[in-house]
Amino acid sequence: VKHREIAKAKAVAAGVNSERLWRSLEDLGSVGATEAGGVCRLAYSPAYRQGRDLFVSWCRDAGLSVSTDGIGNIFARRQGRNPQAPSIMLGSHLDSQPSGGRYDGAYGVLAGLEVARRLNDLGMDTEFPIEIVSWANEEGARFDRPLLGSSVFCGRTPLSSALALKAIGGESIEQELNDDLVWRAMPRRQESLPHAYLELHIEQGPVLEAAAVPIGIVTGTLAVRWYDVIVAGEEAHAGPTPMLARRDAMMGAAELILEARDAANRFAPHGRATVGQCMLSPGSRNVVPGEVRLSLDLRHEDEAHLDAIEESVREAGRLMNRRGLHVQISEAWRMDACKFDSALRGHLITATSQNGLAFVELPSGAGHDAVSLSTIVPTAMIFVPCLGGISHNPAESITQQQAETGADILFRTVVELAT
Ligand SMILES: [Zn+2]
Repeated sequence: VKHREIAKAKAVAAGVNSERLWRSLEDLGSVGATEAGGVCRLAYSPAYRQGRDLFVSWCRDAGLSVSTDGIGNIFARRQGRNPQAPSIMLGSHLDSQPSGGRYDGAYGVLAGLEVARRLNDLGMDTEFPIEIVSWANEEGARFDRPLLGSSVFCGRTPLSSALALKAIGGESIEQELNDDLVWRAMPRRQESLPHAYLELHIEQGPVLEAAAVPIGIVTGTLAVRWYDVIVAGEEAHAGPTPMLARRDAMMGAAELILEARDAANRFAPHGRATVGQCMLSPGSRNVVPGEVRLSLDLRHEDEAHLDAIEESVREAGRLMNRRGLHVQISEAWRMDACKFDSALRGHLITATSQNGLAFVELPSGAGHDAVSLSTIVPTAMIFVPCLGGISHNPAESITQQQAETGADILFRTVVELAT
């Protein structure tokens, strides 16, 4: 036992092989590379398959056993001392936006691989198996359903409906997979659900960079609510109609929009209010608008605070109703907030502190496969900063040091959990 403890402590202190991780990121970044310096690896496309095949070859070289499932998720398993034990699963996604960056998704998958490679270097056994996963169609760019592979894995989306999804003006996922000889030849994953899931990802926002900390421990994701808003007034001539005699739908909409902004600001820093669509009717320069239709997107990590933001906007609407406008706010869609596992977050915080690093806890504004996984197994996420918070953009950038730091935390945590 003592011998094992010493080996473990040594391994943890050693961290990951930064050069190897960086080289793998560079090599994968050359697959589907765009002129602008980013990547285009749309789900199930030839470039995506090429990237996946490269990843699979690296996994096999590392002695991992590779399997897949009905939707094309890829699993690479490093066996543990107890082969019946559920795995510690690490991963993210290898698909990208049409004009995506090199690190979104790829970083989490390759950092997972680096953890396995590092355990190999050190000749280290773990009690639990380690499983690296690459989720299919995370982006939802080509097939309009984000987090698809992880949703199918977690039983949130039926496989049959996922397979039937069609690319815009193109083939279904089922057709793509039928043409994919490499996928067809892979064994199907047989194992039970993992014991825990960890995802390392670039932040895709500006918080960590602004705070000058190398690590973010993700608390969960923001709850999202979408509304369709209609402000109805009365069309009138822009000249003869005095201001007090008007029922101007656009002026009402403007007040409503500003109230949404103020309400989100009252619940800073995690309140969000966005009006991304606005349609005016009749849309003439010298007519007081009679009707305005808006989209409204409200977010907060805390449902009670989101309720309060929503109520402020509704109250502003009721106030306008009394002034002769008719405001209708109907909910179009919602996604509840997700809370990551507090015990796992505790492990991440311990690992970060043991490495002598500063961190902040923050919610993720974007969706991730970890949200799917959190519905069935204990799940947590680590963020590293990215340059200017820019993502879904060829300019997406991280440094080798940042990549190494995040992978070190992942490695330390995995050693802790799996041994
Ligand atoms: Zn991503």
